[in-house]
Amino acid sequence: MNSLYMDYNATRPLRESAKLKILESFDLLGNPSSVHSDGRKARKIIEESREKIAQTLSVKAKQIIFTSGATESNNLLSQQFLNNNFCISSQEHDSLHIPAEGVFECKSDQNGLCDLNHLEDILKKNKISCVSLLSANNETGVIQPILEASLLAKKYNAFFCTDAVQGFGRVQADWNAFDFIILSGHKIGGLPGIGILVMPEDYFLKPILKGGGQERSFRAGTENILGIISMAAVIEEAKNENWLNTQKQKNILEKELIKINPDIVIVGSEQKRLPNTSLFITPGIKSEIQVMNFDLNGISVSAGSACSSGKVKKSRVLKNIGFNDELSSCALRISLMPEVATDHIEYFLKVYEQMYSQCKRKEYHS
Ligand code: PMP
Repeated sequence: MNSLYMDYNATRPLRESAKLKILESFDLLGNPSSVHSDGRKARKIIEESREKIAQTLSVKAKQIIFTSGATESNNLLSQQFLNNNFCISSQEHDSLHIPAEGVFECKSDQNGLCDLNHLEDILKKNKISCVSLLSANNETGVIQPILEASLLAKKYNAFFCTDAVQGFGRVQADWNAFDFIILSGHKIGGLPGIGILVMPEDYFLKPILKGGGQERSFRAGTENILGIISMAAVIEEAKNENWLNTQKQKNILEKELIKINPDIVIVGSEQKRLPNTSLFITPGIKSEIQVMNFDLNGISVSAGSACSSGKVKKSRVLKNIGFNDELSSCALRISLMPEVATDHIEYFLKVYEQMYSQCKRKEYHS
């Protein structure tokens, strides 16, 4: 295991509170759909977990559907509106962008911010049924104007969804102000393979998974009880996490990076960004070389978004905000933990400086 993990947006460690609850529940037996007492016990745990999550979000328990993660929740959302004038932002995660291909797309400015004038134009000219805008982009960390966008959607009688996978606990918001919300367990310190979709009260969701009548027939399949327990265990902690130290450390890191390499481009630096996220471009050094170099030095970082295949792929998000392929292929994302300390930042900078000066020397000699 690397000694320094700077890839929190990809996934974060399981919180102690989740570990304890999972350990307590390992011996649970009983399918929550069974009518015997073991089944009823499992059902009770699921419903109590749903209630706890609902309370944290200030919504009703019946508004929450458990899914296998934010990818499924985004697919489920897209399934509702595909043939019905759906509008998504160009910054959405692939798990919405790909299933919703061909729908209206609201553009972003050169800072990666959703263009609200364009959104209003789309809403004015078309009878849009739902707008989706993530609360913060996973690659750039740029925080999106979700409240303003949701008010625009309301003005034109459209639903509004926010994928809050990265923003939850790191972006100020009244989460119950939105019609749909998407969260993922492993991004907030729960298990992977669990997520939720919050929907409006009494909404009739078209299911993707059909079969047994679980989740009121909106999402068939035996529930992931340990995942659900883990999510309920961490949700309050995640909502109230203090990121002030992280923000301070990230500011120092960015300032020092500019001193080492005045050509560095910090993406979205003019915008409000997630306190733990920095995406920067080091012209001339490919992302994969940087990721490998940090890895060899015991630091886990990522090239833009973590790619399912394990390969580094070109960033659609960077292209979208005007970076050419050459620059996009030299991006590196760090996403820090809440407890990041000065010596972590110093070590990162030392490794960066070594890598940068080595590449400079090579350039000079070639
Ligand atoms: N949305 C965003 C903004 C994300 O960052 C991610 C994960 N990178 C997802 C959706 C997908 O989440 P999951 O891993 O739960 O499928």
